[in-house]
Order: sequence, then structure tokens, then C-alpha cells
Amino acid sequence: MANPADAPAPPPPPPAAEPMLFCPNCSRRLQERGCKLRCPGCGYYLSCSDYV
Ligand SMILES: [Zn+2]
Repeated sequence: MANPADAPAPPPPPPAAEPMLFCPNCSRRLQERGCKLRCPGCGYYLSCSDYV
């Protein structure tokens, strides 16, 4: 069983494509929270079915 200790580490996977959505009320970046995107500023949120 070969030990790939000297093998180069695999490159990290590219970041997942995020839905770059912003709050229509206060223009803050919406934060993903479970199956919702929520605005940290005013509490506005979208459910996943709204942004997918
Ligand atoms: Zn907001």
C-alpha cells in the first residue's frame, strides 16, 4: 500500500456558485440560512424556491 505522503495535495475545489442576491429593501448581501436567504439588516428573506 503506497503512502502518497510526497504527492502534492489536490487543489481545493472551487467555491460553490452562490446566489449573489441583495436585499431589495436595504441592499445588504443576503445570507444563506438553511433553505432561505435572509437579510441581516431588515429581516427580509427569500425561500429557496424563490431564488433557485
Ligand atoms: Zn434588508
